[in-house]
Amino acid sequence: MKNEVKTCPAAHYDVCVTKIESLNKHTFEIELLAPEGTVLHYKSGQYLKLELDVNNDDQPLWLSYTISSSLDADKPNKVCLIIQVTSDFSGKVVDCLFAAKASNQPVKIMLAMGNAYLQTNINQPHLFVAAGSGISKIKCITEEILHRNPDASLNIYWSNRHSDDFFLLEQFHNWASAHKNVNFHTILESAQSGWTGRTGFLYEVIQQDHTNLKETQAYLCGSPKMVYGTIDQLNDLGLEERNCYSDVFEFSPRAEKLEA
Ligand SMILES: Cc1cc2nc3c(=O)[nH]c(=O)nc-3n(C[C@H](O)[C@H](O)[C@H](O)COP(=O)(O)OP(=O)(O)OC[C@H]3O[C@@H](n4cnc5c(N)ncnc54)[C@H](O)[C@@H]3O)c2cc1C
Repeated sequence: MKNEVKTCPAAHYDVCVTKIESLNKHTFEIELLAPEGTVLHYKSGQYLKLELDVNNDDQPLWLSYTISSSLDADKPNKVCLIIQVTSDFSGKVVDCLFAAKASNQPVKIMLAMGNAYLQTNINQPHLFVAAGSGISKIKCITEEILHRNPDASLNIYWSNRHSDDFFLLEQFHNWASAHKNVNFHTILESAQSGWTGRTGFLYEVIQQDHTNLKETQAYLCGSPKMVYGTIDQLNDLGLEERNCYSDVFEFSPRAEKLEA
């Protein structure tokens, strides 16, 4: 059963970059603050667009980043992002944000976007599947669900290429120890020296842990290949696509994928 969650139309804001924290050697948490009195309207799981002159050519780009923080009633003018530097391009994105922070220059954002926001009945079991920086959405949704229902059943699976790609592990492990129905699993696609955790494709690990996903609501964040592959592989356990939420449904619908 879906909740009646309505979204507001997207709006533009000028925000200051108030904090940039390194989460690991190539991942940064960015805090953005709109002027006091502003309420940034978004649903947990949505993303924003950030305007940055990344190439320093006076041709600013609008870049999409998931909002990693759930709405803070005490600071409704604040949003956080998690940005992973995986190329020169994303390196320049983070450099622009450091420069904006240092010069106290506001940046423009537009929010909120995306249909894969929290809209499910949180009393049903939830499966969260993330690859890489996709964990940003899962963090935001988990925060909100546990705030509303500390006993919610949440099974979180997060896969990365390398063991040092993980971040915010303490936060997720704390949720798993403090909430009896929260399970958190870190996975590498293939074995690596020093890794004692689980390995394999996300769907394989989930198949090992579950026998019936019929009533399960799933949020999946990653590449279209991972998202569609996981849904298809878990179909035999009863996972239904109509109970699945992912931004790839908008960016890379199945029909397009098949024609490509
Ligand atoms: C809905 C959505 C949510 C996202 N959320 C996050 C998030 O939470 N954290 C995160 O780290 N990333 C997120 N991304 C990816 C992000 O928008 C950028 O694409 C990413 O930071 C680009 O860096 P990269 O290192 O992956 O570059 P690559 O994807 O490797 O880029 C290759 C080249 O493509 C060009 N390019 C890449 N992206 C863009 C762009 N957006 N506009 C114009 N040119 C581009 C650049 O010239 C670059 O050199 C999200 C994307 C989408 C669509």
